[in-house]
Amino acid sequence: MTGPFFKKIISGAWDKREVHRAGWIIMDSAKTIQNGYLEIENGLIKEVFAGTPKGIFIDHGPGVLIPPLVNAHLHLELSALKNRLSFDKGFQPWVRSLLELRQTLGTEALIREAKKAASDLQALGTLYVGEVSTLGITKQILENSGLSGVFFKEYLGSGNDEIGNVRKNAPLSFSVAGHAPHTSSPKLLKDLKNQSGSAGLPFSIHVAESEEESEFIFYGKGAWADFLTERGIDYGRWGIGSKTPVAYLDHMGLLDSLTLAVHLLHITKEDMDILARSQVKICVCPRSNRNLHSRLPDIENMLKKGLRPALGTDSLASCDSLDIFDEMAFVAKHYPKLDPQTVFSMATLNGAEALGLEHITGALSKGKKADFIYLPVDEKKKTKLFERIVSNEY
Ligand SMILES: [Zn+2]
Repeated sequence: MTGPFFKKIISGAWDKREVHRAGWIIMDSAKTIQNGYLEIENGLIKEVFAGTPKGIFIDHGPGVLIPPLVNAHLHLELSALKNRLSFDKGFQPWVRSLLELRQTLGTEALIREAKKAASDLQALGTLYVGEVSTLGITKQILENSGLSGVFFKEYLGSGNDEIGNVRKNAPLSFSVAGHAPHTSSPKLLKDLKNQSGSAGLPFSIHVAESEEESEFIFYGKGAWADFLTERGIDYGRWGIGSKTPVAYLDHMGLLDSLTLAVHLLHITKEDMDILARSQVKICVCPRSNRNLHSRLPDIENMLKKGLRPALGTDSLASCDSLDIFDEMAFVAKHYPKLDPQTVFSMATLNGAEALGLEHITGALSKGKKADFIYLPVDEKKKTKLFERIVSNEY
C-alpha cells in the first residue's frame, strides 16, 4: 500500500541542526525504532531518539527512514552497453562482444551513459558504490556525481602498465582492482594488492565467476588459455594448476580483510573455509550471475560460515539495473530461506564494510553521515516492515 508520501532521498552536508522524524527508523537490521527521529548536525547524525521531537522538525510521514544502499560492485563505464549484448551464447562470446562493442561505441557515448547511470543511481537511493573501471573514464564522473565510496582502477594482463596512485579520502577513495585470477599475472595482482594495502584501502577482484576460469586455474588449459594466447599473454610462469581460483589467490597471500572478492559462483567447501579464515570481504551479484551463467551464488552457506556478503550488480551489460533495491528484491525472491533482516544488511552494512566505509555509512547511528532514504511503507509490524522493504513492495 502506498501511503500519502513517496520515496525520498535525503542527502547533504547541512551546517545547521535539523531534526527528521518518521513512523519508523531502521538504524540497522538489529536496531529499529517505532516512532522516532534523527538529530542532524554538521552533516552527521548526532543522535537517534524514540518518541516525538520537541521544537521544529521535518516530519517525513508514517513510513520508514533507512540507511542509503551500497552497490559494492559495478562498472558504470559499461552503462552504454545496456540491452546491447545477448547472454544465450555463453560467457566467453559475451566477453568478446563486450570488448568489441565498447570499442565501437567510443568514449563519448560511454561517458554520456555512465553519467546518466550515476545520476539515476543516486535518485533511487544507492548513494555508495564500489566502481570498477578499466578505462578510467568514470573517475571524474564519480568525483562530480555526488556518489561516495571507492573508485577502483582495474588492471589486467601481464602487468607492464604503470599502476596509478591510490588515495584514501572519505567519502570517496581511489584504489585499484585486479580483474581476475585468470586474466592477470601474479606479479600484477601482488603489486596492486601492495599498493592498495599500504594505503589501508580495499583491493577488489572478480573470483570464481565462470567454469572456464576454474578450468584454466586448475588445468592450465581450455577456452581461457586460448583467449590469453590469442592476446599474446604468456601465462607459463603464473604458477597455476591443481588449485581452485580461491586457493590460488590464497596461496599468493592476496586474501585478507582488505580484499573484496566478487562473485564466488564456483566455490568448494574448502574454498568457503579459506574465505572465512582469511576474513576476506565478499560481494555477490546474483542477477548478473543468473543472466551470464544461469547459476546463483551459495549465499546461505556463505552466511553459515560467518561471511557477510555485500550486494553488487555488475554492469548494465549483464544486469537490468544498477539499483540495489532491485538486487535486494531478487535475493529475497530467490533465496526464500534468508530472513529479510539479513537481506537488508547485505544491501547496507555489509556493503559499507566491504568498501571500508562502515565508519561513514551502513547504519543510521551517531557519527554516521547524514544520508538516508524515506520509504512510504506504512506498516505496524517490524517483521512485515523488513519483508516489504527488501521485496520492494510499497
Ligand atoms: Zn564486475
